[in-house]
Amino acid sequence: MEFLRDVIYRQLTADIACPCGYPVTHLSDDLVRLAGAEGSTRHADAFEGHVFEGEVLCEPALPLVEICLAALTQELSAASREAFTRILLRIVSASGQGVGAVGGERNIVQECLEAVRRGTWLFYAEVFNCRAPGASALSFMILEKLGEDPALLGAAYRVAQPALRSTPPDHAGGSLDAVGEQWGAKDFLRDEIARQLPEGVACPCGESVSHLGDDLLYLAEAGNGSPRVNGFEGHVFNGEFLYKIALPVAKICMAALTQRLAAESRMTFIKLLDWIVSGDPGLDVPAGRDFIQEIKEVVEQARWMLYAEVFNGATSGASGYAFMILQELGDDPDRLRSAYQAAYSTVEWVRLDSSDEMGDDA
Ligand SMILES: [Zn+2]
Ligand SMILES: [Zn+2]
Repeated sequence: MEFLRDVIYRQLTADIACPCGYPVTHLSDDLVRLAGAEGSTRHADAFEGHVFEGEVLCEPALPLVEICLAALTQELSAASREAFTRILLRIVSASGQGVGAVGGERNIVQECLEAVRRGTWLFYAEVFNCRAPGASALSFMILEKLGEDPALLGAAYRVAQPALRSTPPDHAGGSLDAVGEQWGAKDFLRDEIARQLPEGVACPCGESVSHLGDDLLYLAEAGNGSPRVNGFEGHVFNGEFLYKIALPVAKICMAALTQRLAAESRMTFIKLLDWIVSGDPGLDVPAGRDFIQEIKEVVEQARWMLYAEVFNGATSGASGYAFMILQELGDDPDRLRSAYQAAYSTVEWVRLDSSDEMGDDA
């Protein structure tokens, strides 16, 4: 909560106009209370007249997006998780911005959508983990509003729907595992691998790309004894140089991280993602294409899922590598520092502000 409190006080500064006429800082205490609520009755409507007015967004909407996303990386009660998700759904459903509330050149609706998009993979994880069934369903609706690929959304829906339906509301700890949906979860990843690595794309090693897809699926299933990052040498990268196939592989890593994985599999996917984010473009990337920028833009959509990993990672290795990826993406230095302090007991082995020379025994 220390991290969330920091985000709240940093985001809600006195220069932001609240339409109610009071300084926007008056929302801070409400948000801290909402994060700590057990069986809260306060929900999105409490922010009516401050953050939104009907279908219209007011200036505090953008800082509120950052706060809601930061809240969802923390351990919250089901009621609180649902409330923060509902605020985000209202913001992404807005149709316009308040006249006079924001300077004329800004398009706050667009800015909010872009900010929410950095939570994309966090929402997928929420759909699958069903910690709070209401929040899972609302997360799915947010993904729809973001215009996510209908094929990927459809796959997520098919997998998660039985679990969402059969999880009793008083059993927030329910998971896909608990309702025996592991096969479905595997299908989600298999579908995504097939979409990202279609036949006709060649693996840099010269073999059919299907072997790479099989290796990634095996990595997700095998757990202990699964392939290590260097098993992808010559297929995804060559030393620090990336092949262009690294971009779809990064997307597969993010999809894999929304699933419950054995600790060792999870660690390898995070390390592979870190390797890709810190790599250099290789020989098969056409000149003039800013490949590193493309990768960063894609992985930015995992920003808040990575923060959730920093705080709730299964191992300090997973948390630390997630933090290194965030540093590599060049995330906001204040937010990074505050997350580092809040998660210090798990990520102390990572150096703040530098990720390059960390010992990597991948
Ligand atoms: Zn207000
Ligand atoms: Zn290969």
